[in-house]
Amino acid sequence: MSREHESLECTYVLERVYAFLDHELDEASGDEIRLHLISCEPCLERFDIEQAFKSLVARRCGGDVAPQQLREKIVSRLSQGRPQAQA
Ligand SMILES: [Zn+2]
Repeated sequence: MSREHESLECTYVLERVYAFLDHELDEASGDEIRLHLISCEPCLERFDIEQAFKSLVARRCGGDVAPQQLREKIVSRLSQGRPQAQA
């Protein structure tokens, strides 16, 4: 497992990622989040997962099928974070 060190800024950003995804932030705050994500790889990866999940759920609700590549990416990320990924 890789060690993560999150700065205060990272914590701030990650706490607001959901609001950002839901477009609940004002433009200035949204830019702040976006700028941090661009320059911070750990946060970008984290954000990428949240966004992928959101689009997966949205697509499933819409009756559409998520791209296979996206699903594999999410599954591999998840299994990396779980000690027991297989039943
Ligand atoms: Zn960060």
